[in-house]
Amino acid sequence: MKPKVLIIEDNEQNLSLVTFLLERYGLEIIPARTGPQGLAMAVHVRPDLILLDIQLPGMDGYEVARQLKSIPSLVDVPIVAVTSYAMEGDRDKGFAAGCVGYIEKPINPKTFLDEIRPFLSADWEPQIP
Ligand code: MN
Repeated sequence: MKPKVLIIEDNEQNLSLVTFLLERYGLEIIPARTGPQGLAMAVHVRPDLILLDIQLPGMDGYEVARQLKSIPSLVDVPIVAVTSYAMEGDRDKGFAAGCVGYIEKPINPKTFLDEIRPFLSADWEPQIP
């Protein structure tokens, strides 16, 4: 079974880049462009990992993380914040909201897989693209 990665990201360019990068390694990508859409998709597909943009229109990523963590079926699903916020304290705010990891934008295509790998099952072997 391919691990399923839900990406909640409103920027089409970032969404395309992450989708392209991760599909090449054999991951299944589920895209969502707003917090409410991400919450609905998370409940529906129960992903193995959630990559969460913090700067989203309307409901921000911190609120999305808090709501995801309040859903019993999703308690064990890791959430990794992916954000260009470079302000001190953002990392802590993300962790306080329920994120277990933090990746800074711009996304580095060379290291992105390694950055998310610790949050995927150790049984999963990436395809060689
Ligand atoms: Mn954004």
